[in-house]
Amino acid sequence: MTDRYQTFTRTPLGKTLVKNLGLPDPLPLPRWTDGAPVIDGPVVFGAIGESDAGKAIQALLRDIGASFSTATEGVASSEIRPKALVFDATGATSTADLSSLQRFFSPVIRQLAAAGRVIVVGRTPELASSTDQHIAQRALEGFTRSLGKEVKRGATVNLVYVAPDAHEQLDSTLRFFLSPKSAYVDGQVARIGTGPLVSNDPQRPLAGRTALVTGAARGIGAAIANTLARDGATVIGVDVPQNADPLRKVISKIGGTELLLDVTAVDAAQRIAAHAQEQHGGLDIVVHNAGITRDRRLVNMRTDAWDAVLDVNLRAPERITKHLVESGAIRDGGSIVGVSSMAGIAGNNGQTNYATSKAGVIGLVEALAPVLADKQIRINAVAPGFIETEMTAKIPFAIREVGRRMNSLQQGGLPIDVAEAIAWFADPASAGLTGNVVRVCGQSLLGA
Ligand code: NAD
Repeated sequence: MTDRYQTFTRTPLGKTLVKNLGLPDPLPLPRWTDGAPVIDGPVVFGAIGESDAGKAIQALLRDIGASFSTATEGVASSEIRPKALVFDATGATSTADLSSLQRFFSPVIRQLAAAGRVIVVGRTPELASSTDQHIAQRALEGFTRSLGKEVKRGATVNLVYVAPDAHEQLDSTLRFFLSPKSAYVDGQVARIGTGPLVSNDPQRPLAGRTALVTGAARGIGAAIANTLARDGATVIGVDVPQNADPLRKVISKIGGTELLLDVTAVDAAQRIAAHAQEQHGGLDIVVHNAGITRDRRLVNMRTDAWDAVLDVNLRAPERITKHLVESGAIRDGGSIVGVSSMAGIAGNNGQTNYATSKAGVIGLVEALAPVLADKQIRINAVAPGFIETEMTAKIPFAIREVGRRMNSLQQGGLPIDVAEAIAWFADPASAGLTGNVVRVCGQSLLGA
């Protein structure tokens, strides 16, 4: 589905109207292409004192070959257009230190390049060593979420909280947020904990891994299957028998295997486990993407529409996860990713069933993350906002147009944006990431 308004704004007439009438100007967001560098412009780094996190950030910037300077070296002049501003705020031990945010960002923020990146790294507030530090660290959320709304031309702002002694886990998350892979992730908070140190090839981080993707025949699921395969995984694509043809098309291109079943079937979990064991010797990644909507206001909600949505979107992931873990089909070190929705966070008129199911997916992540940690299995979720797919193409025109524009990036996301976030969670090098729910919504105006 194309965004006709965005296409129009790139024409000479469109540009004039946008400028003169102050209309939304959604810059087409660059996406990552195979073999491209993590970041293709200069980075300015700033910090509140020296810290382990700061050292890890600078080591990563060197590792990816980024040209970077520190703000104290006087680079905050008009000579450079930074592609990214990275600020280590882990050293903020009291609210007095918050002044450093304004001192660092105010002089340089205007120069941020189009589709630029701002990343603030803080200490997980709940794990702070004092109440003063907790308050200062928690304050970073307000700063990043507001700055996300202020920056223009496709730039994003995200906050990464890192637990004490977890600085070595920063790499995969910084790579994600610095690169165009995070094009539609804006105003978000990721929390990194400790975990085993995994070093893998960032070009093929999923090599040797097997990934299950439900609802893989089209839309976001097809993009997830392609992206995980691009990153080296062997993909098992699941979809309903009616979608056998499109599923085959997706899977034949990436050399995986297909499994035709309805995820709500009573034996779905057993069949998935058996397929994974017999054809692939087990599973490392599970993506619960299959989902449906049956929208009606509660006053008109039919029982079958309520049940169908709860069954597909929540009870199936719950049951399949339980069986795959208990049967040992998911290997230790595995990664489970749920697909929630912005509606599950903010609520939505006509979607009580859908929002209940999608909030339940967040519950699944929160409840299981600590339990599965014993097996070194991680569980996270993405919560997409408005993504251009067949699902959103069905929304009436006026509501669709509002949905598209009501976010900091003034446009809908693409299936690849959701897929990239899932690939970041699936990466074994993201061993410190569990219990996270990250929205892929261009910083929608709806919800927290
Ligand atoms: P889609 O309708 O285009 O594709 C969903 C796929 O899931 C289809 O191939 C369908 O056949 C499959 N599926 C549905 N029920 C199934 C079942 N019982 N068993 C097996 N497969 C089944 O949807 P999409 O837009 O690609 O959405 C994918 C996921 O993202 C869903 O969970 C959806 O709720 C979520 N999501 C989408 C958006 C959006 O803007 N498109 C926003 C938020 C969340």
